[in-house]
Amino acid sequence: MSLREQARAWLAENLTGEFAGARGLGGPGREHEGHEIRLAWERHLGAAGWTCLAWPERYGGRAASLEDQVAFHEEYARADAPARLGHIGEGLVGPTILELGTEEQRARFLPPIRRGEELWCQGYSEPDAGSDLAAVRTRAHLEDGRWVVTGQKVWTSLAHLADWCFVLCRTEPGSRRHHGLSYLLVPMRQPGVEVRPIVQLTGTSEFNEVFFDGAVTDAGNIVGEPGDGWRVAMATLGHERGASTLGQQIGFRRELDKVIETARRTGAADDPLLRDRLVRAWLELEIMRLNALRALRPDPGPEASIGKLYWSEWHRRLGELAQAAQGRAGLVARDGELDDLQRLYLFSRADTIYAGSSEIQRNIIAERTLGLPRQ
Ligand SMILES: Cc1cc2nc3c(=O)[nH]c(=O)nc-3n(C[C@H](O)[C@H](O)[C@H](O)COP(=O)(O)OP(=O)(O)OC[C@H]3O[C@@H](n4cnc5c(N)ncnc54)[C@H](O)[C@@H]3O)c2cc1C
Repeated sequence: MSLREQARAWLAENLTGEFAGARGLGGPGREHEGHEIRLAWERHLGAAGWTCLAWPERYGGRAASLEDQVAFHEEYARADAPARLGHIGEGLVGPTILELGTEEQRARFLPPIRRGEELWCQGYSEPDAGSDLAAVRTRAHLEDGRWVVTGQKVWTSLAHLADWCFVLCRTEPGSRRHHGLSYLLVPMRQPGVEVRPIVQLTGTSEFNEVFFDGAVTDAGNIVGEPGDGWRVAMATLGHERGASTLGQQIGFRRELDKVIETARRTGAADDPLLRDRLVRAWLELEIMRLNALRALRPDPGPEASIGKLYWSEWHRRLGELAQAAQGRAGLVARDGELDDLQRLYLFSRADTIYAGSSEIQRNIIAERTLGLPRQ
């Protein structure tokens, strides 16, 4: 049986009973949904060997090929399985520790990620260091065999649920820009860490401000050498867009189908201009899929920027279409609750900001693909 068939059969068999109600829960704009059941599902997936497929077998993965990883993500999305809680560990810090961590770090951190026992968050952005990440000011110094961390991070997704955070911070006093930074692994549940939720347009809080005030972590919890944090941080970003993109597009197709169905029901589809936008959205989704397949290589280079720019702008337009398809009813939250299409409209505004804003992606394409002069 191919891995795709195995995944399909396993998901059909296991998204039943206690997990039947987990279908469709979570995801962008809906991370508040079903935390307990999604955590149980994360552990169930891990126990059955369906997390971290790309990892080497000696760390509990399946050393799956890119094609098999795509197949899994597609089947996962098709089964409407709940949004993963462990994706930051599995997709970002896990691969970074595999690539640049020590053997002790791999032994300590990888198994709990794979088993869904420890959740992670990403501590990069700060109030004055977003697109300009090299401006980070959070600092850390060694004291009695431990790093002591002080500073503020912002927009930290899922920090309120996370056990650990990978923190980009300045460990060489007086250093500038990308010099003198380090990549520390910091436990979240300790007195020196305060997480304050940020309320979003959707009324929910998926990201947070995180304040480190003398937070500590063992001296050994540094990936790479002190001062080498920029290189490690960039390696993490290199893992940000991968095989899961094609699974994401199955979710997009489901959303688009729902928008089309809504436009039919409300009569909005009689408007020739709206019909034109729906057809265009459908065609562009096909193009997105073909482009994603083309960029599916271990190191996709600037094509990853094209993919990010394309899907995020497309998804934001889909949010606007969702709003138009509902007509005036879309402007009102019934009983104070947003429905899926309203949530899609509001949350998709964020797509062109996180994981590198559209302007930053255009700069990358301009400089690295078109060879235009640096900004
Ligand atoms: C939903 C969501 C989740 C997030 N999760 C996390 C997380 O888990 N961890 C984390 O560390 N961060 C996270 N972020 C933060 C995200 O990485 C930053 O918002 C992003 O990098 C932009 O930084 P900024 O918000 O400081 O905006 P700024 O960098 O201040 O940018 C403001 C505007 O200026 C434009 N701009 C900036 N520089 C240039 C330039 N050189 N040329 C042209 N235009 C430019 C930008 O495109 C933007 O339109 C998240 C953000 C969102 C929206």
